[in-house]
Amino acid sequence: MIRTRFAPSPTGMLHIGGVRTALYSWLYAKRHGGVFILRIEDTDRERSTDEATRVILEGMEWLGLHADEGPFYQSQRMERYREVLEQLLAQGHAYRCYCTKEELDAMRVRQLEAKQKPRYDGTCRHRTEPRPGVDPVIRFKNPLEGVVVVEDEIHGNVRFDNAELDDLIIARSDGSPTYNFCVVVDDMDMNITHVIRGDDHLNNTPRQINMLLALGARPPRYAHVPMILGADGAKLSKRHGAVSVLQYRDDGYLPEALLNYLVRLGWSHGDQEIFTLEEMIRLFDIKDVNKSASTFNPDKLLWLNQQHIMRSTPEHLVKHLKPQLAALGIDVDDDAKLAAVAKSQQERAKTLKEMAQNSVFFFREPAAYDEKAAKKHLTQDSLTPLQEAAERLAGLTSWTAQSIHETIQSLATELSLALGKVAQPIRVAVSGGSVSPPIDVTLEVLGRQTTLERLRRAIDFIAANQQ
Ligand code: GLU
Repeated sequence: MIRTRFAPSPTGMLHIGGVRTALYSWLYAKRHGGVFILRIEDTDRERSTDEATRVILEGMEWLGLHADEGPFYQSQRMERYREVLEQLLAQGHAYRCYCTKEELDAMRVRQLEAKQKPRYDGTCRHRTEPRPGVDPVIRFKNPLEGVVVVEDEIHGNVRFDNAELDDLIIARSDGSPTYNFCVVVDDMDMNITHVIRGDDHLNNTPRQINMLLALGARPPRYAHVPMILGADGAKLSKRHGAVSVLQYRDDGYLPEALLNYLVRLGWSHGDQEIFTLEEMIRLFDIKDVNKSASTFNPDKLLWLNQQHIMRSTPEHLVKHLKPQLAALGIDVDDDAKLAAVAKSQQERAKTLKEMAQNSVFFFREPAAYDEKAAKKHLTQDSLTPLQEAAERLAGLTSWTAQSIHETIQSLATELSLALGKVAQPIRVAVSGGSVSPPIDVTLEVLGRQTTLERLRRAIDFIAANQQ
């Protein structure tokens, strides 16, 4: 059974780099009918924040990357880490190190002077007695010889000489376990079969493998995913708009569009650009991920969002449109109306935020007309078309886009006016501006009563303006 995990540290806001790692782990588990685990690596109590944890949980929820197990919190597993530390000490795979900071500094200077790579020299490996007055750290006894070959799914075989790896501190002098050690215990206890993570962790991997082997565990397979870079070639950061993943939600992106964008970043399937979640699960393979870093392109993300909005069912859009409308002070429960609105707008909105902004008039009478639009379309000339339209629409037996269309069309013909000369004044009257979905659809969704009220208001407006 394949078991993958996403193991973010809640020390910074989850952004798209982390989301891509999460997505790859999730897809890999889903594709193989496996289990996806969420683990919050909050051992660094100083730098971890509740806010960052909240963003991870809420972000994963919004994205639909549901965990089959977890969330587990490292901060709640301290007992277990202590137990494994004791085990390593008892088995001779770890030892207490009493070297002081001054001694370690002096060691470093000596090594640098001798043109050696600075590293712990293993002094305390052979110490038998404690040193009074010094709280020891615990170090892992790394093998002195041989090589560790990380058989990475993306980078291929990466060799590390044990001689290059010194004895890692696995518990600090206050007894608290360190990051690399906790990861090892967790990956072992959670029976992780595939570790998919950022390639900034590749250098940790040989040490983690050595610890797993010392614990008698079978190391998982590893896949180190390359970084995402900003357009300037630097590692993606706040500067490039690498904001909290929730910002994309608030800006009106569909989760599947963001996931589609991220799956394509460093992976491809022929020249296909648009993927449904099902296709991603079926086609994605971690082995096919590029070794080199990829560059974040916000324009492409926006384009994909538009493509996904166009391809979505209106019912699906409703779920994401609702919070956008709520942010504008519009709380609607009428899902059928919301679906009709989404359907009328989905061909023209790049984001759901934009869709919401352009749909406010469906739910709330425009406070004022757009000045330019009113000047152009709510004039003396439009009085007759508006009055006639109001009258005929009031008398329609059925209120459908088709009957509305026919009414406006025949009115234009009778008045010898271009269709726009009738439709635009109506559009401004009902929406307040000169852009809306096709007028027949717009009126159908608005409903007869609202349409007629707004037409009368526009007629009054023109009359009042003429005096
Ligand atoms: N907690 C690490 C991070 O956020 C990930 C560690 C791992 O996946 O092994 O970068």
